[in-house]
Amino acid sequence: MELPKCCKCNHKFSWRSIFRASFKFRQEIKCPECGTKIYPTMKSRQKISLMTNIPLIISFALLAFGLPFKFAILIFLSLTVLVMTLIPFLYSFVDKEEPLW
Ligand SMILES: [Zn+2]
Repeated sequence: MELPKCCKCNHKFSWRSIFRASFKFRQEIKCPECGTKIYPTMKSRQKISLMTNIPLIISFALLAFGLPFKFAILIFLSLTVLVMTLIPFLYSFVDKEEPLW
């Protein structure tokens, strides 16, 4: 897995800058090398919103199978941390803004 690059100059973005941008409503990132504004592709946004639901789905499934609540919470929290760590790797960027759906 690799961190996304700028589509113009191939500058590799840092995990931190992508992670920070993923919390903004307009998820644009300005390339520090060439100044191009780049936007996450629709596909990567869909992938990421799916990923962020996985911890919730798994924890609910475990609860449904009779796992004690505190364990389900523990699993939910560790999966959330894992997903958050992986999110910057799932982004791919283009230099045009695409509609969300
Ligand atoms: Zn660039």
